[in-house]
Amino acid sequence: NEKPIATPKRTADILQKHGFSVKKSLGQNFIVDVTILQHIIQKADIHQLSGVIEVGPGIGALTEQLAKVAKTVVAYEIDNRLFPILNDTLRDYNHIKVIHQDILEADVSAMMETYFDENQPVHVVANLPYYITTPILIKLLREDLPVSSFTVMIQKEVAQRMAAGPNSKAYGSLTIAIQYYTDAKVVMNVPKGVFMPSPNVDSSVLKLTKKTEPPVKVDDEDYFFSVVQACFAQRRKTLRNNLRHYFGTSVNKEMISDVLLDTGIDPQRRGESLAMEEFAALANVLYRTF
Ligand code: SAM
Repeated sequence: NEKPIATPKRTADILQKHGFSVKKSLGQNFIVDVTILQHIIQKADIHQLSGVIEVGPGIGALTEQLAKVAKTVVAYEIDNRLFPILNDTLRDYNHIKVIHQDILEADVSAMMETYFDENQPVHVVANLPYYITTPILIKLLREDLPVSSFTVMIQKEVAQRMAAGPNSKAYGSLTIAIQYYTDAKVVMNVPKGVFMPSPNVDSSVLKLTKKTEPPVKVDDEDYFFSVVQACFAQRRKTLRNNLRHYFGTSVNKEMISDVLLDTGIDPQRRGESLAMEEFAALANVLYRTF
């Protein structure tokens, strides 16, 4: 029985055996600490009936640990140099499917119909490539896939923004975008030393649990997200000024103030102080008024 892939020695041996050099541009920082991986899997509530979608298996460190627990693991990997390596490192598992594709281009919904049973709980578990963390999560959330949770290693500062509450520095349009679809929680902070090579930034594991219903009713989702973005365009500015800038000359200051007051929101407040419900009420009134 071989050691887990996630040890410094075994990872170095695998990379050397295959003459592989990591590409920083693809966010290739491999985990070399098996305890961290087991913690992630535990936080994700993976059990023997679970289906798992992994993004970026790398040389298979997390994939291997997932395969020990889950029923099916489907992993998307963009770098074709990793395929011979994965064929080697994961050869003992026949319930792992590796797909050679950019996750941002993938038809995940069709893949799920092919590889998972209709009532099987499916979770996303990944150590994400940090250069596209937000696009990946937003894509998977907006597609409304039958996925119950996302447990992902990402840059610490981004995790804090996704899990933030109002009146904090980290709270912004990304917070609202993520929390519209999920309950977000930072479940672990992870030191740089567990990666090979170590990244330049600190990392956290974020757990997103899908909401069964959106927490607020909005007339138009795209419009809602645009208004939220507009309210944070210049963080130090009041809502009235940010919205006035957003609508341009077609709408004057008084009209904006009137709408805000109608919604029960003081025009002098900043975006930072608005809860999701207030953003929704505001976007709906703006949508119906202008
Ligand atoms: N799971 C491994 C681990 O934990 O050691 C590797 C994680 S590494 C941080 C990110 C992985 O994502 C790399 O293997 C990289 O090649 C892959 N990747 C980067 N961009 C991708 C994309 N657009 N689609 C799929 N995989 C991608």
